[in-house]
Amino acid sequence: MQHFLRTLATALQDLLLPPRCHICHKPVPDAGRLHICPDCRVGLPLAGSPVCSICGIPFQSAGDDHPCSRCIAAPPPYTAARAALRYEGACRDLIHHFKYNGKSYLRCPLGLITAELLAPFVAAQQPDLLVPVPLHPSRLRSRGFNQAVLLGDLLSRQWQIPLLRQGLKRTRPTPPQIELSREQRSTNLRGAFAVTTPDSVNNRHVMLVDDVFTTGSTLAECALVLQRAGCHTVSAVTVAHAP
Ligand SMILES: [Zn+2]
Ligand SMILES: [Zn+2]
Repeated sequence: MQHFLRTLATALQDLLLPPRCHICHKPVPDAGRLHICPDCRVGLPLAGSPVCSICGIPFQSAGDDHPCSRCIAAPPPYTAARAALRYEGACRDLIHHFKYNGKSYLRCPLGLITAELLAPFVAAQQPDLLVPVPLHPSRLRSRGFNQAVLLGDLLSRQWQIPLLRQGLKRTRPTPPQIELSREQRSTNLRGAFAVTTPDSVNNRHVMLVDDVFTTGSTLAECALVLQRAGCHTVSAVTVAHAP
């Protein structure tokens, strides 16, 4: 209900006031669904090549994509993950407002930019299904929405790939990953996810959807659970990659 009222309030505001850029707040005449002015769009921190060919972490140096030292030492259970943007500057602010300040409408600019920038990766991967990283019901109640489901919905429509909205579920609440060390992050998540309908993922290529790739522990745990349920390939996309 809260979510519906917020969406209604945003729609009314758009009717009464000209749309403004989500980043610099200047009026945008042809805002479309993006609501980001051309200057701010160009200024977004891209997570483009060269990146790790497995986890997608952007490299500082020039050159081709190649596996990073972490992925060589301990190959993750997903075949490839990519982010559209680096989690810094305006991208970090947008995601923060989206997740923590209840601005669910920011799924639109974040999702549309991700859909555009990661379209070549998705075309090369050819996943059968998109599956959002789930939230535990207690977190879902306090936030009012699962950001990965909202993004997954939009990406599913843009890429024409079915979204298995509740393909995975959280079986227990876990402390936010951001508050934990790298070691704590992987044990924190052990056994925290389950596949709801194994038949629907059996022998399929599932592409996970989340907002931010931090250490990859969440995606790795989801990928393990999906593989145990019979998935033949698991890949992942996120809006942003945190350094
Ligand atoms: Zn702007
Ligand atoms: Zn890597």
